Amino acid sequence: MSHLHCLLILDKDTPRLGTPEFVDDLISAEIPDYPSDQATPAARQQKRLYDQVVKYNLHDCNEWCLVDRKCNKRFPKEFAFETSMSRKRRHTLLTSFKPRL
Ligand SMILES: [Zn+2]
Repeated sequence: MSHLHCLLILDKDTPRLGTPEFVDDLISAEIPDYPSDQATPAARQQKRLYDQVVKYNLHDCNEWCLVDRKCNKRFPKEFAFETSMSRKRRHTLLTSFKPRL
């Protein structure tokens, strides 16, 4: 599963720079839909994408991150329904979650 670690240098005059809406236009952090019907090639591809995201892009605590039975990556983290940004943190919380209906 491809994913990207990157540093973007943006023009400070970019409209909406520093807003959650701007981040949402650039980055998606959602679990793809699981197809109910896998009869078509597109649905099978969607299932493969879902399987890869769940397998490789979700943190699962193990002996590498657990210190005194606590995750040193600070997981689990709560899902967020919206992208949020905080000046208190050194990074931007990009978590978004699309609830399954
Ligand atoms: Zn962990």
